[in-house]
Amino acid sequence: MDLAMAISNFLLFSICFCFLASYQDLHSVNAQSHNLSQLSVTPINYDLYHSSGNLMEEIRALVHRHPDKLTMETIKAGNRGYGAEVTVVTYCKQKQENNERSKLRILLSFGQHGRELITTELALRILSILSEEKILTSMDQSSLNSALDNLVIKVVPMENVNGRKIVEAGDLCERRNGRGVDLNRNWSVDWGKKEKIDCDNDRVRRGTQRLLLIDYDPYEENPGIAPFSEPESQIMRKLAISFEPHLWVNVHSGMEALFMPYDHKNTTPDGLPLQRMKSLLEEVNHLHCQDRCVVGSGGGSVGYFAHGTATDFMYDIVGAPMAFTFEIYGDEATSSSDCFKMFNPTDLATYNRVLSDWSATFFTIFKLVPHKLGEFNSKASMFKLDRLVSIDEYLDGYLMERRNRYGKKMEVLELGMQEIRTYFRLFLLSSVLLMFMFCSRISKSKCSRPIVSALPL
Ligand SMILES: [Zn+2]
Repeated sequence: MDLAMAISNFLLFSICFCFLASYQDLHSVNAQSHNLSQLSVTPINYDLYHSSGNLMEEIRALVHRHPDKLTMETIKAGNRGYGAEVTVVTYCKQKQENNERSKLRILLSFGQHGRELITTELALRILSILSEEKILTSMDQSSLNSALDNLVIKVVPMENVNGRKIVEAGDLCERRNGRGVDLNRNWSVDWGKKEKIDCDNDRVRRGTQRLLLIDYDPYEENPGIAPFSEPESQIMRKLAISFEPHLWVNVHSGMEALFMPYDHKNTTPDGLPLQRMKSLLEEVNHLHCQDRCVVGSGGGSVGYFAHGTATDFMYDIVGAPMAFTFEIYGDEATSSSDCFKMFNPTDLATYNRVLSDWSATFFTIFKLVPHKLGEFNSKASMFKLDRLVSIDEYLDGYLMERRNRYGKKMEVLELGMQEIRTYFRLFLLSSVLLMFMFCSRISKSKCSRPIVSALPL
């Protein structure tokens, strides 16, 4: 009895001891991680960065000081109790009626992801240089001015204002809009597809380990309930379709890269469109990235695919001959919870270097794009003259033209392209059959008909 009592007491004591020990362990781990997370998170440095309100106010004042070059509009939209507004600044010298259509058109978007504050600072820097309040020391001003005479540049300095406000309220890792949708997954090209990570694929695994925490994260797919469910994307789509840009750049941060289409598959476009985009990006990489930027298709370069992105839409549906995503800065060594530091420079020297390097990049592109487009367009037209066009190619061209003209019906056309081709072939086939039947009937009736001329009249 005593022995049993002793054993049960010992057991009870052991259980209590284990419980207390584990509780203490747990408690100390929690406290430790709490301290760690408190220690490792860098707050927004407002000595370097503007708040969203201040940034937009500064842009408004800049536009006001330069009405000869800059104009500004704010577009609003909303649905299901959620509203958003997008401000667009247009740079166009010597504005006249229809002047915009005769120039080369460029559309740039910044701040699509809330946590990437550095991109919106770059928008302000580019607008300041366009207004000539700031100058680029690395570039000859007169040659730059003559290039700018022939351009219309639309800048969206902060596409995702609501998401940015969430970041400023303390949620430093937020990249989505004000109701949890990723605005770079809400477009219609290959929308809503879930990407499985193939853990057996070495390249994918390595890519994912390195890139999991940065700007292309397959775990962070929040595409919304349908393509263009979000007011911000609706505004951007409308803007792109009416403006028909020759060049689109979606500016992000998280790494250093110059991406061309496609984001949703491991290929680039081929032929002349590829040569045109690739030669521009390689030149830019050499001039401004010291060849360290990743160049290639978004889908091919990061190890997995992003579905429903703006750049794929701009290339495939809007028909922009050049469509890019630039990633302008990333601190890949930083812990994943320290988002401000991971996506944005935190010291003055790096902040200044990023802004001056990338503004120089954009102004180099403004100078190069007309040449690249001209150079390859003339090659393309020569090429077109001496080759036969197949029915499929003819239909593709026809549909592309219609897409550009009737933007709203574009997705329907996109989905219906295959069906239209099939119907067109069936139509051709049935026409040929009908013709054949008609002809054979005529020749038959000719044979069976009595020879009228033989009859007396
Ligand atoms: Zn981003």
